[in-house]
Amino acid sequence: MQYISTRGLAPAQSFSEILLGGLAPDGGLYLPETYPQVSDAELDAWRTLSYADLAYEVLRKFATDIPDADLKALVHKTYTADVYRNVRHGEEAARITPLRTVEEKNGSKLVLQALSNGPTLAFKDMAMQLLGNLFEYTLAKQHAELNIFGATSGDTGSAAEYAMRGKKGIRVFMLSPHKKMSAFQTAQMFSLQDPNIFNIAVEGVFDDCQDMVKAVSNDHSFKQQQKIGTVNSINWARVVAQVIYYFRGYLSATTSNEQKVSFTVPSGNFGNICAGHIARMMGLPIDKLVAATNENDVLDEFFRTGVYRVRKSAETYHTTSPSMDISKASNFERFVYDLLNRDGDRVRALFQKVETHGGFDLSGKPGSDGDEFKNIAKFGFASGKSTHSDRVATIRDLQNKYDLMIDTHTADGVKVAREHLTPGVTMIVLETALPAKFNETIREALGRDADRPAGFENIEDLPQRFEVMPADVNQMKSFIATHTGL
Ligand SMILES: *Cc1c(COP(=O)(O)O)cnc(C)c1O
Repeated sequence: MQYISTRGLAPAQSFSEILLGGLAPDGGLYLPETYPQVSDAELDAWRTLSYADLAYEVLRKFATDIPDADLKALVHKTYTADVYRNVRHGEEAARITPLRTVEEKNGSKLVLQALSNGPTLAFKDMAMQLLGNLFEYTLAKQHAELNIFGATSGDTGSAAEYAMRGKKGIRVFMLSPHKKMSAFQTAQMFSLQDPNIFNIAVEGVFDDCQDMVKAVSNDHSFKQQQKIGTVNSINWARVVAQVIYYFRGYLSATTSNEQKVSFTVPSGNFGNICAGHIARMMGLPIDKLVAATNENDVLDEFFRTGVYRVRKSAETYHTTSPSMDISKASNFERFVYDLLNRDGDRVRALFQKVETHGGFDLSGKPGSDGDEFKNIAKFGFASGKSTHSDRVATIRDLQNKYDLMIDTHTADGVKVAREHLTPGVTMIVLETALPAKFNETIREALGRDADRPAGFENIEDLPQRFEVMPADVNQMKSFIATHTGL
């Protein structure tokens, strides 16, 4: 299996070659040359597999240059009841992503798939934990090391640190805005005592942190000398690791492959739902893929109108589902490539237009850039939007009716899913975080604190390890160099 760029100008590479990198050299995103297919017989055989064995079957179709025995060991090390232990409602940790039926109405079922049982209580652990093990394995083979450098306002940074802690050949330097994260998120990251994890609290806001990451990325000689890499959401291995739980969700919700299932996905950068698209392209019988957005509705606008219009910072809102607060959707280009029948020249032109004109238009109206919007339904996509008052009302509703507490992002998903039910088709909403992470809104909705999983009760009281630093790139660079010894 070789991987090609959505912009059509980069040489094809293997899974291991693209594993540690980000964008392709032509500025595009990597995708497999063709999507591997699953047969009916395979689906039947996979229905009863453990999560780790299912992960092995899915991944071996993509990671063809990793020997089978090694891949099997990696997934069995990753998807264990011990790593995914933060289960609720009497669920079993061994099921990794258990389903729970929320309600049945007019012949359709609404089901939650729990993806937040990992160490940081959010779905990003599903992929990041595997990435940590894949990175360590690949670096050991190449006798290489990697220094991950990134900025976070919460979720991604902590998922990366919990995935990379203690891993040989890897260090993590993570910038966050000093005193701007919630006490819970700060404690989650800063309480890590592993010597390969460096938390750097920057005296500034998140944008200052991101500017420092950009400045370092643009200094190619420093980057090369210090072996700097990233783990952002466009990383192909992260996307493919997410494909696995769409298979798990489908196979757990059905008894035969004649049955179809829809998914609603709380979406920001389009990474999660892009994995659903890939599962569907592989032949998994998915009916609809519904993108649920918050007030930052770039994606909902596209799926309703065919117009993709990225937002300026002043038009990007800080919401109570903050992990979906995006101005543009960094993985969206992967879907557009398939929508345009894999025409790399056109994708390149469209995303150049995003840089120069802030977007593109595939509505087919006079003067637009194409008419492919008419093909959206063939790919199963639909969308909806949820606002602060919707999510508060949804959290309250599920608590009152079903004694079920959900987080703000999942609430956006449930709100939108209820607008897209089809009789006879199970609707699975992906639960992307546990409510304990977003306690303020839970208090607003329910007048009480969110439940905390065991072990998190006093996390704010643990000793913290971090450096405070001004927003100064040179000081940052010398900090990195001192600690890598390179
Ligand atoms: C990252 C995140 C999302 C958005 O996922 P994308 O892959 O960026 O679309 C939704 N909910 C939570 C809790 C997240 O952490």
